[in-house]
Parts: sequence; structure tokens; C-alpha cells
Amino acid sequence: MGGAGGRGRGPPEGLAGAGAPVVDRVPGYRAVVTSAPPATRDEARARDDHDPLAAVRSRFAADGAEPVYLDGNSLGRQPLDAPARVAAALEQWRTRLVGGWDEWIERPGQVGDRVGRLLGAAAGQVVISDSTTVNLYKLASAALDARPDRPVIVADPHDFPTVRYVLQGLAERTGRRLRWVGSDPAGGWVPDASAAGPLGDDVALVCLSGVNFRSGAVLDLRAAAAAAHAAGALTLWDLSHAAGCVPVDLDGDGADLAVGCTYKYLNAGPGAPAWLYVREELQSRLRQPIWGWWGQRDQFAMGERYDPVAGIDRFQAGTPPIVGVAAVEAGIQPLLEVGIEALWRKTAALVALLAARVAARLEPLGARIASPGDPARRGGHLAVAHPRAWPAVRLLIEQRRVVADFRPPDVMRLAPVAAYTRYVDVWDAVEHIAEALADPRVQLAVPARRVT
Ligand SMILES: *Cc1c(COP(=O)(O)O)cnc(C)c1O
Repeated sequence: MGGAGGRGRGPPEGLAGAGAPVVDRVPGYRAVVTSAPPATRDEARARDDHDPLAAVRSRFAADGAEPVYLDGNSLGRQPLDAPARVAAALEQWRTRLVGGWDEWIERPGQVGDRVGRLLGAAAGQVVISDSTTVNLYKLASAALDARPDRPVIVADPHDFPTVRYVLQGLAERTGRRLRWVGSDPAGGWVPDASAAGPLGDDVALVCLSGVNFRSGAVLDLRAAAAAAHAAGALTLWDLSHAAGCVPVDLDGDGADLAVGCTYKYLNAGPGAPAWLYVREELQSRLRQPIWGWWGQRDQFAMGERYDPVAGIDRFQAGTPPIVGVAAVEAGIQPLLEVGIEALWRKTAALVALLAARVAARLEPLGARIASPGDPARRGGHLAVAHPRAWPAVRLLIEQRRVVADFRPPDVMRLAPVAAYTRYVDVWDAVEHIAEALADPRVQLAVPARRVT
């Protein structure tokens, strides 16, 4: 991949210096690391010593003595100042009581705008609200109502369960049917503008994830939006595994609607409230299904009839979780300070090192990478398939050596997170995983499921 026609082609700024990875942007939100990853543990350490993001790591609760944490794509680490920011919100509650709402009322939109900076979204299009699942329901439902004569929802059979379930429920309730894109479990789906594929003039909504939760495959959001719009459909992207990890250009790439959680790469903590994005020009044309008072024009007039406010706030429903919004601010602050492009450069280099070490150390033990082979199509984590992935992951957690997770049938997910994972962590984690796969307790364990 040479970045043909890409925006921002060529080595990014600020990357002079020995051993710095060179990343080439190509359309969609892809990148390629073109320099060789560290070839020895010492070289990995040296890369850490020159890491321009080393200061970001010091903002997180990670002292280096604990297990290597490769599960930040499931639950991000705690920023060191998260307790103080949450405590400040509680203190406002204590001292200001209901008067605090003067300030709190604007918080979901203000913090939404800041999340939007990580997503290529101009202000006024992102709000913190509800959970990802609820936001998916609200926005998918709004999109279907806007395309009443179209009977089809296009989705990915390998998408995260909540996406499939919400769409199944909506299809059943609105008398529509799901049509699956022809995605590959490891490789994802590559939109092809020259072929109609799953997209025709019967499609109301195309709802897909930006990065697949299992394989880490990246969707070319620009191409997917172009194909969907050519068919007259609306788009809804679930960016839970993309936000804060891979660069996304929602405004520039023609996204209509998007949702995502804040507790993965955005580090806001378990169950922190989610975000939603609605392109500005669509806001007044769409109606969400939950007619709550927080979406109402002149909310405190408490009028008789629901009359949704103009703007992104009409996609709120009830009172927002202010303490959780404070945790979102804490989670995104270290990321905003360095910017998503710098984070992505390191992510791509970490994943390249991980892929090289998996090939060298784990493939001889029967593992294979179940993520796209092309680095330009991979997000922030790798899926490594092995028939004994489950007992190996369990042993590593018990021994406090590596925290990774397992996804059925046979995949361990390994996510080196740019904000706080070091190159040497990646190196050591793969050594630990190799030892675990060779451990008699793992070798003798019955595979959890058959190998596919
Ligand atoms: C993690 C994740 C979610 C989480 O949804 P919740 O409502 O927060 O449970 C949704 N979609 C995708 C693709 C995810 O990866």
C-alpha cells in the first residue's frame, strides 16, 4: 500500500529521530508502518527510551511491575487524575446541590465536542449520552424512520453482538430484513464501489463497525459511506474499537451517524457513558424514538407536547450521568494533549512488533494471526488463534504475567495501547504467551471449542 491518492501522504511531522516508525496514511483511516520493528529486546527498550509518548504513559496508573496489560481495548487503564476529577464532581454536588445544574447542563455537549476532536467531528455534533447499545438503538431507529420505504438493513454477520441484536430487534419491530455484507471473519469487509454488492436502492441503513471487535479488521469508512450514499442509504458506524485508537475523519469521510463507548481506548472506566455523533445537516431531519425531556425544546417550560430541540441535544433522552461525564473528561485528556495521529503512529508500530513476534515465537507453536495480514487494514489489536487459546489466557492471568482476553471459538485478543503500553511490554508478553502455550497444563487442557 503506497497511499495512492491518500490525504496527508508521506512521513508525518515530528518523526525525525533514529528508529522512529514511518507511517503512511491511505484513504479510509489506514496506515502502514514501513520501518522494521525492533529485532531484539534491547532494541525494544531503546525504542521506549526514545518514545515521544513516554510522558503519556506516566499519566496512567501503570508502574511496570504488574502483569503486561493487553486488554485496554476491553477496559482502558485508569488515568491518574480520574479519582480527583470524579471527586471534584462529587464535591460540586455536595456544595452546590441543585445549583450545580447551571454548569452540568452543558457538560454532555462540551465533553462530546472534545471526544469529537479525536474523531474528526466539528463541534456541535457529538454528545455524551446513555450506553453504546442504547445510542445504537436511538440512531438506527431514527435512520429507519427517515427511510420508510426501504426494507433492508445492511450489517456484518461478524459484528459485535450488541450491534447484531439491536438491528435484529429493530428489523423485527419495523418489518424489515437484515442483509449481511460478505465479510471475512479475519479480514473484514472491503467495500467495492465497482460492484453493487449488498447495496441497492432497497437499503435504508448500513450499520457497521469501524474496527472489528474480534479480528481488529479496519473498515474503510470513506469507501463504505460513499457506497451507501450512492445507494441512497444512511450510515451508522459503531466506533467502540476505533475511538481513541485509529484516526477517524467523521466529517471528512461523509459519516451520517456514529456511536461508541468511552471505557475502551478512551479510558473512562467501567460503564462510563457513551457518545453519539449526528452529522449537523441531518440533526433537524431525524427523530429519535425516545421522546424524553432532555431532547425537548425549551426543556424547563415543560410544555404539553414533545417538540425536539434543534441540534445534537435532541438525541439525548433523560438526565445525563454527570459523574460519569467527569470520568470521560479524565479519560480523554491525555489523548487530546498528544493528538490521535501521534497515538496512531505508536499503535501501528506496536502492532507491527506484535505481529513480528507472534510470527517468530507463536506460529511455530501452532498459533496463527486471525487479523488482516495487510498492516494497512489492521486496527489496534491482533487476534491470535490457537486451539488452546483459552487455557493459555487463563494461565497467564492466574500467574499475573499477561492480561489478555479470549473470544470464542479460539482467539486471544492482544491490544498494545499507545497511551501506556511499551515496546518491551509487547516483547515480554509474547515470550510469556509462548511459555504458556508450551506449559504442560495448557497442552493437556481440552480445547474449549473445536478449531475452525
Ligand atoms: C464494547 C462495544 C460495545 C459496548 O456496548 P455497551 O452498550 O457499552 O455494552 C458496543 N459495540 C461495540 C462494537 C463494542 O466493541
